Amino acid sequence: MKSETFHCPHCRTVLKKSAAAWVLGEMSASKGARGVMMGAPAPAVPCPACGGTIDTAGMVSGKYDAGGGIGDVVGLVAGLFGMIALIAAYDLSWWLAGIIALVGGVLVGRVVDFVARKLS
Ligand SMILES: [Zn+2]
Repeated sequence: MKSETFHCPHCRTVLKKSAAAWVLGEMSASKGARGVMMGAPAPAVPCPACGGTIDTAGMVSGKYDAGGGIGDVVGLVAGLFGMIALIAAYDLSWWLAGIIALVGGVLVGRVVDFVARKLS
């Protein structure tokens, strides 16, 4: 399942894929990486926010998809370590520690994503 939203590679504005582009992305994904791009709307579309060109093939293939960035990885690791730390420090049940760590991990991931975006 690909994301319905993606980031403009120039200004990082979160944009929504058109339904057609999204369906095309799903189709090419099911056909493998070398999905035939028959009937692609245009080779490039202008970003509504900054006017920069976004190549349609990259957008459809999920190159600019929102999420899946460094924040998700860091959040996952932070959550995992947080869960272990909570169990060790407070003797919590694994499921309670897991819920807290999951929420914490997502928050950490969002912060890291935000910072990474500001730096890039
Ligand atoms: Zn833009």
